[in-house]
Amino acid sequence: MESFIYQAQPARVIFGSGTAAQLADEAQRLGLKRLLILCTPGQAALAERARQWAGERVVGIFAGATMHTPVDVTERALRVVQDLHADGVVSIGGGSTIGLGKAIALRTDLPQIVLPTTYAGSEMTPILGETKDGLKTTQRSPRILPETVIYDVDLSLSLPSPISALSAFNAIAHAVEALYAPDTNPIISLMAQEGVRTLVRALPQLIETPHDPAVRSDMLYGAWLCSYCLGNTTMGLHHKLCHTLGGAFNLPHAETHTIVLPYVLEFNAPVIPDAMARLCHAMNDDDPVNTLLALERACRIPMALKDIGMPEEGIAGAVQQLLANPYANPRPLETIELTTLLEHAWAGTGSRAIG
Ligand code: NAD
Repeated sequence: MESFIYQAQPARVIFGSGTAAQLADEAQRLGLKRLLILCTPGQAALAERARQWAGERVVGIFAGATMHTPVDVTERALRVVQDLHADGVVSIGGGSTIGLGKAIALRTDLPQIVLPTTYAGSEMTPILGETKDGLKTTQRSPRILPETVIYDVDLSLSLPSPISALSAFNAIAHAVEALYAPDTNPIISLMAQEGVRTLVRALPQLIETPHDPAVRSDMLYGAWLCSYCLGNTTMGLHHKLCHTLGGAFNLPHAETHTIVLPYVLEFNAPVIPDAMARLCHAMNDDDPVNTLLALERACRIPMALKDIGMPEEGIAGAVQQLLANPYANPRPLETIELTTLLEHAWAGTGSRAIG
C-alpha cells in the first residue's frame, strides 16, 4: 500500500425514501429558525412541499435559481436573505439551485440543507462555479460545502429518463476521473468503483422501469458516491475539456460530459492500468470504453458534440485553450492526440482510433 492522505468532508447525509419529511428535524439539529427555500421557477411547487416539511421555520421561497449561477441572481437572493433575516437556506433541486445556495453560503456563511433532485452531485463538493458578464469562474472553500444533504429517492422519481441518464453519466465521469486523480486514495477508489458499479447496473433498469423506486434508489446511491469522489479529488482532462467546451460554445452540461467521457477514457487508458482494472471490475466487462458507449446508445441520448451545438471549426481553438492552461492529467497532452480525440467526440464515431 502506498502512502496517502484522506481528508473527510464534514457533511451529514440522510438517505432513503420519504426522508424529505425529516427537513424540520434537520433544521432543528442545526439550530435554524428562519429558513429561506431556494428552487428554480420550474420547481416552485416542490418548494411549496418543502415548506410543509419544514413547518413554521420557513420565512420565504426564492424561486429564481437558474443555470450557471449568475452573480446578479445571487445578489437578488441575498437581498431576500437580508430582508427576511434568514438564518439558513434550503436548496431543493439540481445543480443550478444548489449553486445558488452555495453562492449565498460563501458570502454569508449561512448553513445549507440540500435536497438534491438530480444526479449531478454538486451537493457533495466545496466547489462553486459562478458567472458574471459571461465569464465563469470556479472556486473552492469550506464555506461552500453544504452542512446537511437529504437524499430522498422520491424526489428523483419525476426526473425524466433521458435527463436522468445524462445526469448519471455526468456522475460516472466524476468517479472515473477520481480513480486516476493525483490526490486519489484507497477510500475514494472504493467509493468510485462502487459508484460506477451501481450506476452501470441501474442504468439499463432505468430505461425499462424509470418509476421503479428500487432502481431510483440505486441511481441516487451511486450518484452520491460519485459526487463524493468529485468533492474529494482533483479532476483531470475530462472535466477540464467539458468546462472549456461548455464555456466556449454554451453546450449543455450533462450532455457534454456524457459524450466526451468515453473518448477521454480511451485517451488515458494506456497510462492508467489500476483505474482501468477497477473499472473493468465495476462494469463486469473487460472493455470500459465500449461498455460506456453501448450504455449511452441504449439510453438514446446524444452521442456526438455536433448534435448538441458544437461547431467543427471550434475544435482547434478548444485544443489551444486546453494546452494553454496546464492541469493534472495522467497522460501528457499533445496537440495531435487532443485534436483526434475532439474530432471523434464531435463526430460521435465511437471508434477506437485514439492512439
Ligand atoms: P439543473 O439544476 O439545471 O436542473 C435541470 C432542470 O431539471 C431544471 O430546470 C430543474 O428545475 C429540472 N429538474 C431538476 N430536478 C428535477 C426532477 N426531479 N424532476 C423534474 N425536473 C427536475 O441541472 P443539473 O444537471 O442538476 O446541474 C447542472 C449544474 O450543476 C451545472 O451548472 C453544473 O455546472 C453544476 N454542477 C456543479 C457542481 C459543483 O461541484 N459545483 C457539480 C455538478 C454540477
